[in-house]
Amino acid sequence: MEDDRIKLQQCRRRTTMLEDRIRSNEHILYGFHSIEIDMVGAHSLGDLIDVLSQGIPKTFHNVECVTLACLDPEYELTRMLEGGQQSDQFNRSFVPLEQSDFDTIYQQPYKPWLGQFQPAQHGILFPHQNSVGSVAIAPLVFRGQLIGSLNQGSQKSTHFTSGAATDLLEHLAAVTAMCVDNTVSHERLKLDGLTDSLTGISNRRFFERRLKEEVGRWRRSATNLCCVVVDIDHFKQVNDRFGHHVGDIVLERVARELGKVLRSSDVLARYGGEEFVLLLPETPVAVACEIAERLRHDVAAMEFDEEVLAGFQVTVSLGLASLTPQGMQGGDSPGDWLFQQADSALYRAKNSGRNRVVVAAHETQVSAG
Ligand code: GH3
Ligand code: MG
Ligand code: MG
Repeated sequence: MEDDRIKLQQCRRRTTMLEDRIRSNEHILYGFHSIEIDMVGAHSLGDLIDVLSQGIPKTFHNVECVTLACLDPEYELTRMLEGGQQSDQFNRSFVPLEQSDFDTIYQQPYKPWLGQFQPAQHGILFPHQNSVGSVAIAPLVFRGQLIGSLNQGSQKSTHFTSGAATDLLEHLAAVTAMCVDNTVSHERLKLDGLTDSLTGISNRRFFERRLKEEVGRWRRSATNLCCVVVDIDHFKQVNDRFGHHVGDIVLERVARELGKVLRSSDVLARYGGEEFVLLLPETPVAVACEIAERLRHDVAAMEFDEEVLAGFQVTVSLGLASLTPQGMQGGDSPGDWLFQQADSALYRAKNSGRNRVVVAAHETQVSAG
């Protein structure tokens, strides 16, 4: 009789435990489900990181930090995210890693891991956290390749324990991996359409889009918007003398040199052929002149590693124009007017001897080579 009573009590306890486990799993299931719906709706890698890093801590008690680590050996994803101008919180949630970093964390077959935080092994996944007690880390595998890791950290050292079931986490990781691949592919496509494949800088389409935006900003703010058109001098002769392939190398080097002095708000694009264009928002003409002159000087001083180009000097001519707060004389298309003014100034720089900067309207020739 006594035995039966004890057995019944044990049975009730087990049932209560099972019910608790089912309730907890249900909570995890619904939580993950709503996060997955938000993830599938993410338009960019940045959105996806927001959903994970904010959605998981909001849904689950005791999970204070979530990071997404991605294989990013060439910082391609990092650059994509930089374009989005994210917050500090956001920057702390993305961790670019190399293959060798992953090798110390996961071994095949790739499986989630829950347990106490081990600084030597997991520190790299939580670079900005110093109070992690336990972690749940899940490998992101896409088409058989390890592409990243979804990392949850709790300050409580007993929150994530090694005995816990991981099938729901595996499912979340599988959806996350798919969404990472999807958003990255999508952003690559967008970038392809706006990037020049030879030089890697923005293309004319991107420039035209940004010109519209910057003209809009110029209208709202009482500042100067400057535009500089840059054209390589006698570039045809480079092709004729060294061949098209060497011409391509020169183009790529000039583009890189032009990019060196620019601020993050400036726009540099390959307008076409051997012609580049710069937009310098909120820049007084005098400062834009200095920038243009510096570019002219730096290009002329460039040295080439290629044997065939040893001692070869390439020069550029530059035309500069600006939209001032007082307005412009160009009717209702200030962007077109600005570009045409800079282009005419470039034409005059060519006609007056090349390797120089000419400023529109003032007709000042700030330098001669
Ligand atoms: P100027 O000083 O008057 O600008 O003379 P230029 O020779 O630079 O100008 P022109 O317009 O006569 O020639 C431009 C040359 O640029 C001709 C074209 O073959 C070359 N070019 C345009 N795009 C590319 C490219 O992608 N690669 C290479 N290698 N050459 C290109
Ligand atoms: Mg030229
Ligand atoms: Mg040209």
